Amino acid sequence: MKKEEIRLVLKESYEKYKGLKEGVNASYIPYLEKINPELCAISVVTVDGETISMGDDKFKFAIESISKVCTLALAMQDIGINGIRKKIGDSPTGLPFNSVIALELHKDKPLSPLVNAGAMATTSIIKAADKETRWKRILEMQRGFMNAQIELSEELNASEQNTNCHNKSIAWLLYSAHHMYCDPVEACEVYTRQCSTLVTSIDLATMAATLANKGINPLTKKRVIDGRNVPHILAEMTMEGLYDESGDFAYLVGLPGKSGVGGGLLAVVPGKLGIATFSPPLNVAGNSVRGLKMIRNFANKLRFNIFC
Ligand code: GLU
Repeated sequence: MKKEEIRLVLKESYEKYKGLKEGVNASYIPYLEKINPELCAISVVTVDGETISMGDDKFKFAIESISKVCTLALAMQDIGINGIRKKIGDSPTGLPFNSVIALELHKDKPLSPLVNAGAMATTSIIKAADKETRWKRILEMQRGFMNAQIELSEELNASEQNTNCHNKSIAWLLYSAHHMYCDPVEACEVYTRQCSTLVTSIDLATMAATLANKGINPLTKKRVIDGRNVPHILAEMTMEGLYDESGDFAYLVGLPGKSGVGGGLLAVVPGKLGIATFSPPLNVAGNSVRGLKMIRNFANKLRFNIFC
């Protein structure tokens, strides 16, 4: 595929939707509520290492739930794909990302590593002797997927750690049902840190491109994860990556994706490229409104759909 063709469709997707006024910033994390809702970026990184990008692609925003994919990848390295299926699960919950009812319905097994309960359980699975080692390993995985400059934002982390009572409750529920594999307070704290790193749309496109490139980061050329785990990660993303809108995304776009309440959204075109968008206003499901429209337009126009 020619770079010029990608640039044209990327530009069209950006121009068409950058001014769309729908959705609202996430407000349950005070830091996110303050971000300028007008910001908008779209970026592509190809498996050959080309970057095509436009809009506010230098702006650093909260990775949030997209971090769950990196931690899942690390946990898969640590305990294998069958370990993940057994201990966490591999299916959509059909309920919002922070649902407690989802736990009640499935005997407290989280089912998905890409919703809050399963993500905290996944963080607890990472092999580590103590909290700081657990955190360091997760941060290193994010850096491998994106770049070595990825850092925690102290301000965002404080904003989240001070307001994450709901997640703390979920962590204790998991612990009481024997689905937490380290101290639940530690798991919740490290999970909250992993959501509090700052990234750009280019960073997220690089992460998506690393998955598109069977686990090798196309910019650093370094292997980040075992290529054999990639299909399993993409399957989880397809089923659960956009919360309870994952089915719509599979139906309308047909690519494995992952969103975060910070306004980031990425999608993987296996063997070809990673695409990512940033735009803070979210719909009721917690997905970026402009991001969904931009990626759908881009993928449809270029006929990127894993089911075709
Ligand atoms: N830190 C956020 C939370 O735990 C992440 C949610 C998300 O992006 O889905 O609620």
